[in-house]
Amino acid sequence: MAQIAREIIMCKYGEIALKGHNKRTFEEILVKNIKKAIADIGEFRIERMQSTVYIAPVEQSTDLDAVVAVLCKVFGLGAVQKCGVFPKDFAAISTDGVAYLENALKDAKSFKVEAKRADKAFPLTTPDIQRELGGKVLDAYPHLSVDVHNPEVTVLLEIRDKAAYMNAQRLTAAGGLPVGSSGRGLLLLSGGLDSPVAAHMIAKRGVLLDAVHFMSPPYTSERALLKVETLCKKLKPYLVHLRLHTIEFTEVQEAIRDNCPEEYGTLVLRRLMIRAANKLAAANAATSRKPYGAFVTGESLGQVASQTLAAIGCTDEAAELPILRPLIGMDKIEIVAIARAIDTYDTSTLPYEDCCTIFTPKHPKTNPKLAELFGVEARLDYDELVTNAVKTMTIQDF
Ligand code: ATP
Ligand code: MG
Repeated sequence: MAQIAREIIMCKYGEIALKGHNKRTFEEILVKNIKKAIADIGEFRIERMQSTVYIAPVEQSTDLDAVVAVLCKVFGLGAVQKCGVFPKDFAAISTDGVAYLENALKDAKSFKVEAKRADKAFPLTTPDIQRELGGKVLDAYPHLSVDVHNPEVTVLLEIRDKAAYMNAQRLTAAGGLPVGSSGRGLLLLSGGLDSPVAAHMIAKRGVLLDAVHFMSPPYTSERALLKVETLCKKLKPYLVHLRLHTIEFTEVQEAIRDNCPEEYGTLVLRRLMIRAANKLAAANAATSRKPYGAFVTGESLGQVASQTLAAIGCTDEAAELPILRPLIGMDKIEIVAIARAIDTYDTSTLPYEDCCTIFTPKHPKTNPKLAELFGVEARLDYDELVTNAVKTMTIQDF
């Protein structure tokens, strides 16, 4: 019976591997994010070499499956795999190493061996290792056949400076760029389906996000806010850090209801949300070394009346920063698929009122004109309304 192998986790870069002279900056951010993601699970030694991050637990009892699960949500990583660590000795690799792969191989039909020999002093060449190790795997698991083109399982052996690493279960990780490598943004987070998906997509491109949520008690309930908090908890493993600003928009919404023609209500509300976001961005720029470079919303072209081209143009006019709308060309089925994959779907579809769904006009304007909109907004003292709303802001860090 082979003794239980010491295990580590090996992570391969995604897109960062393609970076040129600035690769190091991305790597440093990635390693910082990895450390943060796994800090609660245990203590680790982390090394990075040749587009690979090695994560070795200080205690062998550390739950490495939990580490793998967390790392699969860290943007910037292309693949994550748990590996057995063996001495750089072919006899040990072909006995203990092959036994270590039992779980992955016992029910498979075909395999191939992929060897990488970073340590050129190792006595066998790469083709020799692949052939010889393939033979040893077949001896141990005679039901298998070799398939070099389309194997069910790829046995990976990497011979590096200090040891040989073996594994046969490579997991595709989240991809993208490490959060923090593309600046910062402010997400307009509703309790709906779309904005959490938008958050995921923009964080995947390396943007560190804060969020702002507008609520209108007593029209919106405590449970609607809890729903947004749950979404923040679910998004956090991808976003690394998430600060949620919550702003009461009750007076703003009542003023819109009482003073503006109904068909313009949704659009005026959206523009006042953006104006509140402008204020947050300005306050942030005054105090932070990393000001927001964009707002992010879950708008998708044509999905509802406030998301026609004309309405989007009117929304943009109120914004002092670019608005990123990663869902703009996606349909609902595609958005739902991502929401399910990132586990926000069930929370997003809980049926609590959002501030956008109260006082909704029966016939919202689908082809609004800016000139008319300016006239409508002139009926409100919107700057004071928004300033007062921002004063109600509370902050939570996730
Ligand atoms: P979602 O599913 O994200 O709520 P939606 O399809 O319901 O989007 P709208 O309600 O028109 O569409 O909202 C469009 C976008 O405006 C949202 O994706 C979000 O970015 C922002 N938004 C809407 N309501 C709020 C809110 N209460 N707080 C913060 N942002 C909001
Ligand atoms: Mg909504």
